[in-house]
Amino acid sequence: MKKRRTYTLRFILEMLVVFSVLATILIEVISSLHVNRTSLSSNYLENNYHYAKKLAKNTTDILTALQNNIDAIAKQAGDKPLKNTDLQAWYMANRQYFHSLLIADATGHIQAVSPAASGVTAGTLLTSHAARLALSTKKPLISEPYQAVSGRLILLISSPIFDSRGVYKGFAGGTIYLEDSNVLNRILKEHFYRDGSYVYVVDQQGRLIFHPDTKRLGETVRMNPAIHQALAGNSGYRQIVNSKGQSFFAGFTVESVSGWVIVSQTPTSVIDESNRKLLNNLLVTSLPFLLLTLGIVWLIAKNISTALSRLAHLSDESGHIDSPAVITTTSKIYEIQKLYQSTRLAIRQMNRRLRQLQSEVETDGLTGLANRKTFDAYLQHTMQSEIPFSLILLDVDRFKKINDDFGHLTGDEVLKLVARTMQASTREDDFCFRYGGEEFGILLQGRRHLFAYQIAERLRQTVEATDNPTGQPVTISLGIASYPLHGTWAVDIITCADQALYHSKATGRNKTTCFRLEVASL
Ligand code: GH3
Ligand code: MG
Ligand code: MG
Repeated sequence: MKKRRTYTLRFILEMLVVFSVLATILIEVISSLHVNRTSLSSNYLENNYHYAKKLAKNTTDILTALQNNIDAIAKQAGDKPLKNTDLQAWYMANRQYFHSLLIADATGHIQAVSPAASGVTAGTLLTSHAARLALSTKKPLISEPYQAVSGRLILLISSPIFDSRGVYKGFAGGTIYLEDSNVLNRILKEHFYRDGSYVYVVDQQGRLIFHPDTKRLGETVRMNPAIHQALAGNSGYRQIVNSKGQSFFAGFTVESVSGWVIVSQTPTSVIDESNRKLLNNLLVTSLPFLLLTLGIVWLIAKNISTALSRLAHLSDESGHIDSPAVITTTSKIYEIQKLYQSTRLAIRQMNRRLRQLQSEVETDGLTGLANRKTFDAYLQHTMQSEIPFSLILLDVDRFKKINDDFGHLTGDEVLKLVARTMQASTREDDFCFRYGGEEFGILLQGRRHLFAYQIAERLRQTVEATDNPTGQPVTISLGIASYPLHGTWAVDIITCADQALYHSKATGRNKTTCFRLEVASL
């Protein structure tokens, strides 16, 4: 049959502790990272949204201010046509806002431009879509970004010029080169953080008009879901994946004057970094505590398992434990102490029962003397040790008649009396036994033949002289043989003693015979 694999309690407890500690760490880490991710995600989304709104508000303020300045120039030009020198004064006052200022007549020809080095000169016909739109609408206008003759992206802020009679005279315009440093990107650029957050702006056509990477300006990004949503008029925030496959928390809103979409976004990878730090913190702060717990539980487990495995060992050897008092434990655990207590009690009871059984097996129930079996073992042992001894065998005379005349119970009493007398007539280390029926024996270690004879005779006389339940003298016949005098085998000694006893019987009973060769020849 296949042997089933077993594990020690200590191993199981240790595994349990390791598993539960690891599981605790794992659950703590997973839930902390999850909570961190969730709360950071909504934080980043909301922060970006609020920041986009704030930037939209700032942009509105600036665009309004820019428009107001151009309105003022147009108003002055309406009162009196402006020359290059006049426009130069305006330009000096506005150069932190505009890259150039110009006045165009109603046909779109430049009348004045400042600074002079702006690439166009008086008399040049403006052909851009923005200029034509300004001429045709005759309204204040912030243009869509467009490519100038120089190839650069330009924004035109214009205001119509009407003379005092209300006749349209053209428009005043201010240009902003989107790729160069300008008032808008100075504000938007403030948003650069080390975590990779940035801002970009898209016009109503979905083209990038502001982006940290100026090479991308003019690129169409309509397909970006945030832009798509914003151009449909819905501000908000969402997680997006850009054209390069990078994921961002994006907040977006539409600027009210220009209709531009302002997007502020942070790479979602910032959470990985934050989670990595959190994980480090968790491990650093919880590991010592968890190791301590592991240590404490390990010690307790060791205490329990050591106590139990010692008990298991003791139970294995219970048959050999003479003093159950050794079954003690220093463990303070109630159940362990109880277990030791009951094991101690069980072994004590078992020992008592064993001793009882052993004595029942070894002794004669009626007389309390050793029985024949015990005598045989004792005889063997004595002979193996080569200790000289004398063996007295004795038999109650005419015992059958005692039984017949007085009954078996009286017979039993007589047997008990003989046994008591035997013990009283010998020393403690002389071995008295019941050989069977009304036959007894005494093995006298180290006693010589003659000495054994004296003891036998004294016993015989005592038995005869002792009162007994029959009211009549009870006599015994005895035979003696000695080792090694009469043989070196147990059976020889017993036979010789038996023959001597038979001799006593045959020659009149109530006597002691020492084995001699003559006895044997009888
Ligand atoms: P002898 O003098 O030749 O020894 O004669 P005896 O009658 O003593 O010998 P026998 O062997 O004829 O009788 C022994 C009797 O002892 C027979 C048996 O019933 C009786 N007996 C044996 N064991 C016991 C016992 O335990 N109790 C009683 N009451 N009688 C026993
Ligand atoms: Mg007999
Ligand atoms: Mg007899």
